[in-house]
Formats: sequence, structure tokens, C-alpha cells
Amino acid sequence: MGILVTGGSRGIGRAIAIELADDHDVAVGYRVSESDAEDVVTEIEADGGTAIAVQADVADSTEVQDMVETTVEAFGELDAVINNAGITDPARLQNLDDEQWDRVIGTNLTGAFYVTRSAIPHIVPDGDIVFISSIGGTGGTVDASYAASKAGLHGLTRALAREFGGEGLQVNAVAPGPAETSMNDQILTHLEEIDFRGHENVDTHLPQYSCKPEDVAHTVRYLLENEYIQGEIINVNGGMQFR
Ligand code: NDP
Repeated sequence: MGILVTGGSRGIGRAIAIELADDHDVAVGYRVSESDAEDVVTEIEADGGTAIAVQADVADSTEVQDMVETTVEAFGELDAVINNAGITDPARLQNLDDEQWDRVIGTNLTGAFYVTRSAIPHIVPDGDIVFISSIGGTGGTVDASYAASKAGLHGLTRALAREFGGEGLQVNAVAPGPAETSMNDQILTHLEEIDFRGHENVDTHLPQYSCKPEDVAHTVRYLLENEYIQGEIINVNGGMQFR
């Protein structure tokens, strides 16, 4: 059975797609990075797996519907949907314009809603929905639109766990700390640019190494294999923040 990983073309989503391709057919979602997505497909196929690249801007509900239909046509019912596609466009609040706010919320939160709404009718009764959140959503960043979008995912996670848990679906989120991807370069540049007062403090509390995309991918696998975790936000941050 199939799995849809949005934003599977690079970074954390790529690691999740490759991890889950061991025992699933994988649809690798992307918006513009077609060649990166095709590279992931090629890598999965070289290892004996099955994958397709599927295009959609997750912030566009029509494109999302088409992407889900393409995935279902290829693989049949879905075992899981991994809502990983995300962006950041950090700015101090006074400089954060309407378009920036709408684009980040539209991609990270509304996009996850669109994907999940389109996919739910096709997910097997004991399937999984996973949202890739962030330490930013649990209070660990100076980036208002990003933090709000990720905190919104936590509400979505718990609401859907309540709504669909009784039917057997598991709905959870994973909240990684800063990970070694292109997005994190953007975040660190922003913190330097705004000369964030707590930046030195954050640095002194950094764990020995950044979160690896594979750390997140292994956690997603764990959630898919476990039948009894519901409505949780799982921190994967090396101890940068506890709950
Ligand atoms: P990358 O920037 O490396 O990759 C982002 C992925 O999302 C790409 O595949 C990109 O595809 C896709 N994407 C972006 N916008 C859209 C869109 N509108 N529609 C469809 N796909 C889209 O990010 P990361 O791997 O670092 O991040 C992945 C997830 O993990 C995000 O949700 C992020 O918030 C979260 N996260 C990241 C952390 C980090 O430090 N890097 C820490 C904590 C959480 P394309 O290029 O085609 O647009």
C-alpha cells in the first residue's frame, strides 16, 4: 500500500520517503523541485522500492486534490499521509507583511489541512496521519508566522485524533529541533540578521549535533509501527526543550 510524503523532494521529507520505501510504495510530493523529487524516486527504485513523484502546491486545494487522486490511482488505498511540506520566511513582527504571513500559514497549516482532507477518504481504517511540526511550534523560535503555523498543526493533530481515533486512524505530530537542511540555514541567517537577544543563549543550549533528517524519519516509522500512540506531539530535538 502507498504512502504520500509531501515535501519529499529534499531534506527531512526525502529522508522520510526513503525510510518508508523499505516496505511501502511512496509518492514523493514536491511543488517546484521536480528533478530533486525524481532523484528520490530513482534512489528508491535503485533499492528495489516503488515510488512516483507527485506535484502540487499544498496551498492550492485543487492541486492537492489532483495530487492525492494521482497517488491513489497509482497505489490504491493509502497506509499513511506524512504532512511534511513546509516553508519559513522569518521577519521581525513589525516587518512581517500580509503576503509573508499568508504564504507561511497557507503552506504549513492550511496546506496540511488540504492534504489531509483530500486523503482521509483513501486512508485505510488503521492508517496514520503524521504532521511534521517543529520546535518552533512548541516555543523555540523567533519567527511569528512559522511558530503560529506549527502550533496550529498541534491543534489540528489533537482535533483529528479526537475525530478519527475512534475509527482506528492514528494522528500524531513530530516536532524536530533545528535540522541539517536548507531551511535551517535560512533560520540561522535570520537570527543573525535580527541580532536576536537570546541567540547566544540558544546556542549554548544546543545539543552536540543538529537533528538529522534520519532522526525524524525513524520517529515517523516508529509512529507508523506503533498502534497505541494517539494525538501526541513527539519532540525530536536532542534535549533543546522539554515538556
Ligand atoms: P526543505 O526546505 O529542505 O524542504 C521543504 C520541502 O517542502 C521541499 O520538498 C519543498 O518542495 C516542499 N514544499 C515547500 N513548499 C511547498 C508547497 N507550497 N507545496 C508543496 N511542497 C512544498 O525543508 P526541511 O526538510 O528542512 O523541512 C521539512 C519540514 O520539517 C517542514 O515542515 C519544516 O517546517 C520542518 N522542520 C524543519 C526544521 C529544520 O531545521 N530544517 C526543524 C523543524 C521542523 P519544493 O522545493 O518543490 O517547493
